Amino acid sequence: MKARIPVMTPWLGEEEAQAAAAAVLSGWVAQGPRVAEFERAFAERVGADHGVAVSSCTTALHLALVTMDLGPGDEVVVPSLSFIATANVVRYVGATPVFADVAADTGNLTAASVDAVRTPRTRAVLAVHQGGVPADVHALRAACADWGVPLIEDAACAIGTTVGGKPVGQGALLAAWSFHPRKLVTTGEGGMITTDDAAWAERLRRLREHGMNVSAAQRHASSAPVLERYLEVGFNYRMTDIQAAVGLVQLGKLDAMIARRRELAARYESLLADVPGITPVRDPEYGRGNFQSYWVLPDPDFPVGRDELLAALAAAGVSARRGIMAAHLEPAYAGHPHAPLPVTERISTGSLILPLFHTMTEEQQDRVVAVLREQAGR
Ligand SMILES: *Cc1c(COP(=O)(O)O)cnc(C)c1O
Repeated sequence: MKARIPVMTPWLGEEEAQAAAAAVLSGWVAQGPRVAEFERAFAERVGADHGVAVSSCTTALHLALVTMDLGPGDEVVVPSLSFIATANVVRYVGATPVFADVAADTGNLTAASVDAVRTPRTRAVLAVHQGGVPADVHALRAACADWGVPLIEDAACAIGTTVGGKPVGQGALLAAWSFHPRKLVTTGEGGMITTDDAAWAERLRRLREHGMNVSAAQRHASSAPVLERYLEVGFNYRMTDIQAAVGLVQLGKLDAMIARRRELAARYESLLADVPGITPVRDPEYGRGNFQSYWVLPDPDFPVGRDELLAALAAAGVSARRGIMAAHLEPAYAGHPHAPLPVTERISTGSLILPLFHTMTEEQQDRVVAVLREQAGR
């Protein structure tokens, strides 16, 4: 029996371990100089003026909505086809998530799908770059500008993804990022909010640190006593300097990560070209993805069902996953009203995510495709 092929494994090594050790030995392990350095490097990389590091993308999205002053009675249009945090954060601020359907080729919201469900109570649109596939932000930004509604971007999966040659994040009002090990760049857990708005960045820094007007790091650096004030009810959503140290090393490897993932995705695509009834995820014409998730959609008349296909892969030692979840199909959203979401349901119940990771070998990839080819021939 050959070793099991994981669906994803982070690309971490000695350099990250040493960076974490250096942070520990420095004596400053909470949010400090390494977090500040990681914020600058990350914001520069995605083309934003400010980066605010937080504990996860979920807390990043929560703070983005707090910054928009959203609350009960307000509606936020979100895709149901996303990790459930995208919908949950709207609930955290007491507002109502309104599920819009997605485009079949990208799994992302479109201006038309948002337009179909927006109402006079729509106060924001939260678009996802699902699995690293870019959403058409130019079309969405133009439509949102027409409607007078801010566009917030859930870029959890999309570090290094581009639209029209520009990185996702550039020109975004507020974009939220994840450093969970299931994404490309990881800090164990962690997140970031990027924006070009200095006033929002300042408020976000305050909100992540209990609403304090001066950070603990600033207080520590000052020779005179600094008496902090708490300007509003905030949160403890800070990242640690140990995490940021790892993140800085990871960021330096990002170009290599994207190049390798795109190479493996192209190889999957050519191998799958002669497997009948399987449609793989591809770049849309307006941008290039980082292939954070490599999903395939079997035709409805594929010889075996999706779950049977997952079972066949598992039996052959391949860890695949069901496709992107749909929040409205989960018990947490039972009874939550929504418009029909046929494309969301088709992708969520029909698709599967294949293994793709930096150190994946061609032999491993051939093993994955062999199972699909065998099942297609049944
Ligand atoms: C992973 C993910 C999140 C949550 O990220 P965390 O850092 O784990 O909180 C949110 N949205 C999307 C689209 C994701 O894929």
